[in-house]
Amino acid sequence: MIEIPAVGPYLDFDDFTVQLPQRGTHGYLPCAGLPTAELRDTAGDGAGVWLARSRAGHSLIIPDGVDVVRNGRRIIGLAVLHHGDRVAFAGQLAWFSEVRQLRLPTGHVLVGHRCQQCHTTFTVDAEVVLCPLCGEGYCEDCWEYLRGARCYSRDCHMVPVPVPVGRVVTT
Ligand SMILES: [Zn+2]
Ligand SMILES: [Zn+2]
Repeated sequence: MIEIPAVGPYLDFDDFTVQLPQRGTHGYLPCAGLPTAELRDTAGDGAGVWLARSRAGHSLIIPDGVDVVRNGRRIIGLAVLHHGDRVAFAGQLAWFSEVRQLRLPTGHVLVGHRCQQCHTTFTVDAEVVLCPLCGEGYCEDCWEYLRGARCYSRDCHMVPVPVPVGRVVTT
């Protein structure tokens, strides 16, 4: 069986996106070379930040001497990212999106649930887009259809945004 990596949370730099690492892994995003930088396994020479997925969530680990501003405030050390955060780094502005797409594994809570838009019942191996705010699932086309509108979940204020494409960085 071929495993497709989950398309996960990402930093959107407008012209390009950087995928955050999978759970339990990390990668180094060098300042030099943005907007074409890709995550590296080691810091090596030159300033940059670590992107990590820890128990606390999706995190930025910022070495001494590197300037990172989130939502207008300089952050030092470690920051756990939340959907919608704006991050300024190395002269670039990115925003953080937790929109995720995955192929449902056996036992996933959304197996047997319905897409909120078209009411298709999700089966194992269905490719589903997850609302980052409420966890509700949508078909990719249905999520796309709702772009600029609202997630259908009661009390959810998510305005669907594009699923990231292209630059998938695996570490
Ligand atoms: Zn649907
Ligand atoms: Zn939602």
